[in-house]
Amino acid sequence: MAEDTRDWELETKLVRGGLARTPYGEISEALFLTQSFSYESAGAADKRFSGEEPGFIYQRFGNPTTQMFEDRLALLEGAESCRATASGMAAVHVALQGLVRAGDHIVAGRALFGSCRWILSEWMPRFGVEVTYVDATDLDAWKNAVRPNTKAFLVESPANPLLEVTAIGAVAEIAHAAGAKLVVDNVFATPVFQKPLALGADIVVYSATKHIDGQGRVLGGAILGAEQLMTEAYKDILRHTGPALSPFNAWVLLKGLETLELRVTRQAQNAAKIADVIAAHSKAKTVLYPTRPDHPQAAIIANQMTGGGNVVAFDLGSREAAWRFLDTLEIVDISNNLGDAKSMATHPCTTTHRSMPEAERLEIGLTEGWVRMSVGLEGPGDLTRDVSRALDAA
Ligand SMILES: *Cc1c(COP(=O)(O)O)cnc(C)c1O
Repeated sequence: MAEDTRDWELETKLVRGGLARTPYGEISEALFLTQSFSYESAGAADKRFSGEEPGFIYQRFGNPTTQMFEDRLALLEGAESCRATASGMAAVHVALQGLVRAGDHIVAGRALFGSCRWILSEWMPRFGVEVTYVDATDLDAWKNAVRPNTKAFLVESPANPLLEVTAIGAVAEIAHAAGAKLVVDNVFATPVFQKPLALGADIVVYSATKHIDGQGRVLGGAILGAEQLMTEAYKDILRHTGPALSPFNAWVLLKGLETLELRVTRQAQNAAKIADVIAAHSKAKTVLYPTRPDHPQAAIIANQMTGGGNVVAFDLGSREAAWRFLDTLEIVDISNNLGDAKSMATHPCTTTHRSMPEAERLEIGLTEGWVRMSVGLEGPGDLTRDVSRALDAA
């Protein structure tokens, strides 16, 4: 009996999902660096273009290496369809743009990645799309924000930078009752620790730049969902506006997927340990990490996440203390990226969230003392020593 790949264990999906070998039988996935494809006859070209016969046409529409990445990620996510994009922001942009037109309305959780805020606050209004921000943890706020023209909900959970968690199933119900689609940015949880589609979301987006590469090399993104919605909402936008992922980057990301579970599991172990070390230190006022019992949404986390991820946020009380912490670190890098094998820490108020008006920062509780740390794969003893020394200096 042929194996049903959907029944494979997660680890098997990550290593073998989507594998499409050439007649050479190569073990490592082939990298097809080709822009276009040839056809056996004019009639074959006609059939390929009409969609009567399957096959590749042009790299902007699809590519064998990119499709292996899409198929592997779709299998992992339990999605019918996945389309890769050149970056996480291309994925977020297309995911929203494909659901709305002039006169429509989007509701979004107010704690969002900076560029996502820009798309909603600056870009969408240029095309006559209105946006309402809500406290994503407040279900009544989502309900009250709904209008007759609401077509999409967007939420990031856990959210950047303070790891606020939203009840995805409950928000999906509100969206569906309103006739809207729920888009979840699942970057912080990774496909290993949270499955938004199974919880009721319609669309999941990733920045594959983060944990899926996980080794600091390439940008990439992905949109996942049911076949019909993906085709209706995104097929033509992806073809004609050109946010296609490079096949080279798709190849790097495919190899990244092979070790994703190993990496994020170890990173989450390190992050949980570091969160406890920080919480036990007198300099830290508040520590946020999803699997700690003192996380404000601990009950929701227990229901919808199977791991805490690799990001820890903590408040050292002032910008001066936060900067002293960062400047004392010797192993951990000061950097705004996340999900990498190398640990890094950043001061969100002056980096990732500097363009957010202060009043909005205060609304999400982001004051000057907060540090966000992406915990990597270094030895936990070395990380603990580096972080403890930096906390002493803060
Ligand atoms: C990084 C990130 C993005 C954007 O991804 P890029 O690959 O940098 O374009 C979007 N959402 C979240 C939550 C992110 O962390």
